[in-house]
Formats: sequence, structure tokens, C-alpha cells
Amino acid sequence: MRAVKWSLLLLMGSLVLMNCVRSGEEMADLILLNGSIWTANPAQPWAEAVAVDGDRILRVGRTAEIKRLAGKKTRVIDLAGSLALPGFIDSHTHFLEGGFSLSSIQLRDVTSREQFVERVEEEAGELKKGDWILHGNWDHEQFSPPELPRKEWIDGVSSQNPVCVCRYDEHIALANSLALSIGGITKDTESPPGGEIQKDPVTGEPTGILRDAAMDLVMRHIPPPSTAMDLEAAEAALRHARELGVTSLNDMADGSSFAASLAAYQELLRTNRLTARINLYVPIDQIDAVEKLGLRSPFGNDRLSIGGLKGFADGGLGASTAYFFEPFSDNPRNYGLLAPQMFPEGIMEQRILRADQAGLQVAIHAIGDRANSLILDIFGKIAAQNGKRDRRWRIEHAQHLRPADIARFGKLGVIASVQPFHAIDDGRWAEAKIGKERCRTTYAFKSLLDGGAVLALGSDWPVAPLDPLAGICAAVARQTTDGKNPDGWFPEQKIPLEEALKGFTVNGAYAGFSERIKGSLEAGKLADIVVLDKDLFKIAPDRIKDVQAMLTIVGGEVVFDRSAGESR
Ligand SMILES: [Zn+2]
Repeated sequence: MRAVKWSLLLLMGSLVLMNCVRSGEEMADLILLNGSIWTANPAQPWAEAVAVDGDRILRVGRTAEIKRLAGKKTRVIDLAGSLALPGFIDSHTHFLEGGFSLSSIQLRDVTSREQFVERVEEEAGELKKGDWILHGNWDHEQFSPPELPRKEWIDGVSSQNPVCVCRYDEHIALANSLALSIGGITKDTESPPGGEIQKDPVTGEPTGILRDAAMDLVMRHIPPPSTAMDLEAAEAALRHARELGVTSLNDMADGSSFAASLAAYQELLRTNRLTARINLYVPIDQIDAVEKLGLRSPFGNDRLSIGGLKGFADGGLGASTAYFFEPFSDNPRNYGLLAPQMFPEGIMEQRILRADQAGLQVAIHAIGDRANSLILDIFGKIAAQNGKRDRRWRIEHAQHLRPADIARFGKLGVIASVQPFHAIDDGRWAEAKIGKERCRTTYAFKSLLDGGAVLALGSDWPVAPLDPLAGICAAVARQTTDGKNPDGWFPEQKIPLEEALKGFTVNGAYAGFSERIKGSLEAGKLADIVVLDKDLFKIAPDRIKDVQAMLTIVGGEVVFDRSAGESR
């Protein structure tokens, strides 16, 4: 009996000792106090303070309790009531391309032919003979009247420089005569499958407008950027992300940019300059190589990973190449186009099947209702064939859905990876293109949620702004960018603020198989945090787009501090 008592005492003593040692170790490196912290953790949705140790969250709780974890070397930040959130996760970007677009010709705000020509002339004036003029992100719906640009507009001001500038959705390009001749495109060139070389109905000459697969006839001649240029673009993109509170992103590096992107990110990782966590998707037509390597989803570490495979089922709405069951309302002969990756017939299904057998996640771009239906059919078939597994298939955009297909996302566990800004952007003219009825289930975020789908939100930058607050505002207010729908475009599809925030945090982590380490603020997870200048929960939904990130923290490190004018 006595021996037992003694050993109990001894045990208690050592427990006390252990506790002392542990609390000594528990000094935080960084503490945020007096905040209004939305954690995305359902077990503790709100908190006042967060303590960070190294790159991880040590504790989340009340200011008084977290304060005790401050030591002499602890950096203490008083949030003074500001709203803090888990760092934003953008589920769909073309990140390197976004970086390049920051320093290219800017055509997005152009509203007239004269302005368009002026900008091309200015740009040509700054370049050497033979340098390409690329990107641009023009939007002909903004011209009055809306009309597609033509090569004749710009030939006179760009005779020394090939031009291949894209509409902001990247599904239409305008090439000047020099670029067309480099691409070998004449009046006799036939449109390739999955693309269109637009010809003048009178002369039969190409107008310079190239759609989808036809863009490649010119683009394959564009000299690839040097490694140094790639790095510069990636760093510019990362700076932009830091300033917007984006701490993680999925990069749908399409086609040839995958290898360049991976190389640039690896170099930035090696030199400790990768200030956002990047999850990269490999083009699905490279599945042979990926299979041979034995890659599984996700591969990498918490900074840089390969998430799986990305494919294309169709084109886009703005370019009239999204693939629909019914024709476009403004062109009864056009049903849109399946993407080249859908040919030969059956190959997409085979590739998804192989990916699934190899344990690789797939993310497929589908915009038109028929493209979405087709991909859901393939997913359903393969799930039945290969049996239950945590596969987290994704449909990128999931833009126009047949009412009957909406619930299939939830049922099949398919993640709807959607970009709310597109809704308020395309909402200006979508009804003219596909009619009111189909628009009811366009960007149907609320219906998807009601059907049990996981919504992972993103920007599709540089197609839309990278700013997650612009995306959140679009999801909750649905006001089109032309100001014509103050109560929201198809307001029944608005989603609550918390759902939009989940879409840019926890759900984004889930879509990239990383919800165990990020996406919410809780002990043990990576300390990725954003502090905003206004409280999203206390302002009108349509003001959310004006809110700014004040502080961005990635892995416990402050990488952006607006008040100090600092960005790492
Ligand atoms: Zn995209």
C-alpha cells in the first residue's frame, strides 16, 4: 500500500515537472491578440487570439489565455478588433501566366477600337523589332458597339511585331498579319478540330480572330520565355498574391507552361522565396509520363505539390465554344465545341480511368451543360467500375448545368471548383448568348450547395482578378460588373458569406487533399493567416470587394504588412 502511494506521488511529481518543461517550450514565436477571428473550424468558429510556434498554430482562443504564451522573443501583434481569417486558398489559377500578364500590354479596360489600337501602338513602340505582343485580356463586350477586333485595326501600328493578344477568357486570340503569316495561316487554311480560324464572309481572308485550338497554330511559334523571365513572372505573381492575402493556390498550368512553372517554383522553394503554397496540376495528356513516374496525388510538401491531372472537355462561353445540349441562342447552328483532348472519342474516359487506377486526382474543365454532363457520366461509370475510394474528382468551372445534373455533384462526391467573379462578369451578356432559362442554372452555387456538393472557390487568374475578396463579393452579392443587377443576377443563387469563406479556405484545402494541415485556424495546422481592414461580417455584401488585406502570414512568417508598406 505504502509503495503504491509513493509511486503515485512520484508520478504526480514528474507530471508537474513535465508540465513546467512543456510550458517553457510553449512560448510562441508570434501572437495575434484582440482580434475577431473566424477560424473555419466548426468546433471553435470564433476566437480572439492565435499563438504561432514556428510554422504551426500553437493555440487558438481568448486574448487573456493566449497572452500567457508570450515570451521575451515573441512578436505580438494587436489586431485591435480586426477580422482575421485562415489565409485564402485559390483553387484555380494560371499562376505563371498571371505573373506574365502583370507586365504585358493591358487591354482589359479598353472600351473602343481607337483605344485598342493606341495601346498596341504604345506597346510596339517599347519593343524591339520581332518581339511578340501577347496576353492583353481584351473584352470586346465592352466596346460600343460590341464587336470582335480585326487584324486590320492593328496591322498599321504593329508591322514589326507579331501580335497574338487574347480575350480575357483565353478562348479567343487576335493575331495581326505578321503573326498569321508566322503561323502559316492563309485564306486556304482550314480550321483545326476544336478550333476556328475566322474568315471574312466577303473576301475569305482570315480576320485575325482565332478560337481555341486554332490559337495554337500561331502560339506554337512564340519563343518560350527564358528561365530568368519565368522566375521574374513567378515572383511578380507571388508578390501580387501576398498583397491579396492568398496563401495557397492551385495552379492549372496548361500545356507547355507546366514544366516552366514547376521549374520556377522549385527554384523559388530552394531559395526560400515561395511565399504561397502551390499545388500544381499536370495536363492530362501527359498521363503516360506521370504514370511511368509512379506519382500519386498529392505529391510534394506543404509548399509545393503536384495535385493530379487537369483536362479540358470544352471551350468557353464568351468564345461560343462551350459545349451545350441546345444551340447558342444567338447562333442556332452552334452547339459549341468539345476540346481537342476529347478526341479521339473515348480517350478522356480512358485517361480518367487510368488516372483513377493510378491513384491520381483529376480536375476537368467543363463549361457548357453537355460537357458537364459528359464528364459526370464518365465519373459515374468509373466510380461504379473501380469501386469506392476517396478520389475527390473536380470539375473546373461547372458553369452551366442542366438542372438534373446539379445533384450529381453531391451524389458522386465531385468537387465543383467554381470562380464566382465569372458570374458577375459573364452575367452582363450571358442571357443574350444562351437565353434566360439556361442562365437560371448558370453559376448555380446555391443549388450546388443544396445538392451536397463541395464548392471550392477560385479566381481563374489572369482570366479574372486574383483578389479573393472580389470573388467572395461576387458569390454573396452577384452584382454584375456593369451595375445593372443591384439585387444580384439570379439572386436565388447567392450564397451566405460563411459558405463563400469556406470556399476560399477549408474547401480549397479539401480540394487539394490538404485539409489536415491547412484551411482552418486550429492547433497543429500551418499558420497561414490573413488580417483584413474591414469586418466582412459587419458590412454590406456589395462592399466586400473594397476590403483589403492588411497582413498576410504564411507558415508563421509575415510576408505582407500593408501598414508598414512591406512585402517580402
Ligand atoms: Zn482556367
